[in-house]
Amino acid sequence: MLAEHDKLAREAATRDEPYPAYLLRLTELEVTARTANAIAARIRAAGFPVHKEFDTFDFTALPSLPKQKVLELTRREWVDQHFNACLIGGSGTGKTHAATAAGLSLCRLGVRVRFVTAANLVTELETAQQEHRLDRLLAQLDRVDLLIVDELGYLSFSRVGAELLFQVFAERYERRSLLVTSNLPFGEWGSVFQGERMTAALLDRLTHRCHLFDMNGESYRFRESMKAKDERPPKATPKAKK
Ligand code: ADP
Ligand code: MG
Repeated sequence: MLAEHDKLAREAATRDEPYPAYLLRLTELEVTARTANAIAARIRAAGFPVHKEFDTFDFTALPSLPKQKVLELTRREWVDQHFNACLIGGSGTGKTHAATAAGLSLCRLGVRVRFVTAANLVTELETAQQEHRLDRLLAQLDRVDLLIVDELGYLSFSRVGAELLFQVFAERYERRSLLVTSNLPFGEWGSVFQGERMTAALLDRLTHRCHLFDMNGESYRFRESMKAKDERPPKATPKAKK
């Protein structure tokens, strides 16, 4: 308002605009700017590794994936109801892309989101514990409406790391939402979490109220690189050996 009041006042004077109309325009400008700033701040705070949206997501690449159900992740109802979501599928099938696209949309709707890889989250938790500030980190995570944990399963954790991650998941249960992506089907999560009991308890909480998506299909990354290879003009080099 400070930046714009003078200019708008001069405009209003030349147009003989009544005072309430001037005030309304000035206030609208302020509200628009604040909303945009708040969205930008939420997106920054979320820490997305890339900015990918659903408008560039090719649903025909995964024909068995229910498109409308996936797009519902961009609406805030499931987060307001403390549901979880899991995207399970092989490498390059669009899990990070979809998780990011959902997170970005939710940031715009006022949802506080945090995006983190499972490995980084565990490291963060372990470090915080060693430095006696675990409670503070857990409280920080608790203020986030949607915690996106990407790439669960690529690395297994130490016993302590697995327990800390379990604690985060358990504390969010029915209070806050989680979106987890994993290359591992649930049956193999025991190898990440060490111990059948902890894995079963964790899966119980995660999948109780959960939208589950099977992202398995051909790797999009792989397919695109094969396409690019096919489209390249043939090399003038001698024939490759069989
Ligand atoms: P994942 O996290 O499952 O390993 P990514 O989401 O990182 O896979 O996808 C790998 C690359 O392929 C990214 O650049 C992503 O944008 C792209 N990609 C994957 N699936 C699709 C899709 N269905 N439509 C458009 N791009 C896709
Ligand atoms: Mg990924």
